[in-house]
This record gives sequence, structure tokens and C-alpha cells, in this order.
Amino acid sequence: MSSKENATIDSKLVKQLGQKKSDFLKIKCNGCGGEQVTFSHPSKPVKCLVCDKVLAKTTGSKLELVQGQIVQLLK
Ligand SMILES: [Zn+2]
Repeated sequence: MSSKENATIDSKLVKQLGQKKSDFLKIKCNGCGGEQVTFSHPSKPVKCLVCDKVLAKTTGSKLELVQGQIVQLLK
């Protein structure tokens, strides 16, 4: 999968996220490739459990990806 395709998937997922109040999602670390499940509207920055990079931070109640990417939405 090219990085361009990845970006398209990401924006689709983000759009889906915007339509939901609360959900869980799987985030992949850009640093080590580790995946973890997190709340879609976390109250604290999401850190990689493996390498401790900040994968996503919060702006208000919204998730903003930093060093991670969304790979799956969980219902
Ligand atoms: Zn990591």
C-alpha cells in the first residue's frame, strides 16, 4: 500500500470518527509499528506502549494524530 492510499484511508476514518460521539480505535505507532487500542476521544495524550512515543494528542475533545495512524475503528 502506498503512502497516498494510506492517507486516503486515514481521512475516511477520521470522517467516520467525526460522526460518532465515542468509540474505540486501533492506532499504529509510526516509530515501532506497535498497535494499541485507545478511546477515540481520550482525555490524555495517547502514548505508545512499546516505545513511549506520543501517538496522538487531544485538542479539546478531539483526537489529533502525532506519531501514529489509525488502522481500525472498533465498535
Ligand atoms: Zn512505538
